Amino acid sequence: MSVSTLIVAAGRGVRAAGSNPLIPKQYLPIGGVPMLTRAISAFAGHPSVDEITVVIHPDDVEFYENAAKHFVARLRPPAHGGAHRQQSVRAGLEALAANPPTHVLIHDAARPFVDAELISRVVGNLDSHVGALPCLPVTDTLMMGRGRRAAGTLPREDLWRAQTPQGFRFDAILAAHRAAAKDGGTFTDDAGIAQWYGLDVALVEGSEANRKLTSAEDIANADELLRLRAQSALGTQRVATGYDVHAFGPGDAVILCGVRIPHHKKLVGHSDADVGMHALTDALLGSIADGDIGVHFPPSDARWRGAASELFLKDAMARLKARGGEIVHVDVTFICEGPRIGPHREAMRAKLAECLGLDVAEISIKATTNEGLGFIGRGEGIAAMATATVRLP
Ligand code: MG
Repeated sequence: MSVSTLIVAAGRGVRAAGSNPLIPKQYLPIGGVPMLTRAISAFAGHPSVDEITVVIHPDDVEFYENAAKHFVARLRPPAHGGAHRQQSVRAGLEALAANPPTHVLIHDAARPFVDAELISRVVGNLDSHVGALPCLPVTDTLMMGRGRRAAGTLPREDLWRAQTPQGFRFDAILAAHRAAAKDGGTFTDDAGIAQWYGLDVALVEGSEANRKLTSAEDIANADELLRLRAQSALGTQRVATGYDVHAFGPGDAVILCGVRIPHHKKLVGHSDADVGMHALTDALLGSIADGDIGVHFPPSDARWRGAASELFLKDAMARLKARGGEIVHVDVTFICEGPRIGPHREAMRAKLAECLGLDVAEISIKATTNEGLGFIGRGEGIAAMATATVRLP
């Protein structure tokens, strides 16, 4: 079985033109992605679909190229459609006829929420039927009206709401379309043409999500839904800062972000006085509003005398993890006249990456002097600032 997909995108979309009359609706973005791109993507990612052809309006070449740019490897050149859907499908089928597949799925670009399960159900029925039509039962009561008066309820048991993609044996649906074009019949979908031509079309379970976006309101609602979904997947993003200072005392090295740097002084503190890790620990604690380093590791507690500061940093990381959080990025800035930070930058990034379980690309180390001003300028100590960007559920 070779399966081609024909996506019909040649309409002018006049019913939806309210929001942006210059762009046909199938090219309007929903959730930041053109509607047609979403439809192409669903088929391009399906293992049963060999290739895709989009039927477009000749004026829309630029819109099409933008919408299709990431899928060129799976797409045949676009076919040019006619004034009505039926003519557009026929034009698409004729374009495929030179190198025909065994089966074709015909889909409306205005249904961007088609999913892999639905495509599989349609394809799965093409072994035993000439055609397969996804549809849903009618659940609303169908009332006949005479003028503005109720005039009787219609039975709905045998009525179905037809969707796309509709699947067919290629030669059969091409013959049906050619016959319909010759005999002048007008149909709103391909299952209608197939049934009129006498083909066996199976009814397959459709999907409520696979609705057709017709009005400007439909498109606005779909856009809103996708934006809300994207936001809830991301969760809450927070940015927090930390700051620390340690004074110099007599010594021969400082420890900054876990890296020992030979220097003619050391930093004085209760722990190893790693001013960079302290600032970063406070930034992480700030991101979950969980106090600061002094709350969790009071300098009055003898246990932390001379402690390696990665202990504090890992504790803050564990607290963030316990809330289901993850770090997006951290940024540490040293403010000092010396030692020079640049030669040790990569070692510090590697050390923080190891402590926090991050990629080094997510860790920034920077440094600046204080231009000789103030206590830092006089070489009395080092200050550090840190920013942590985290994501929480
Ligand atoms: Mg400190």
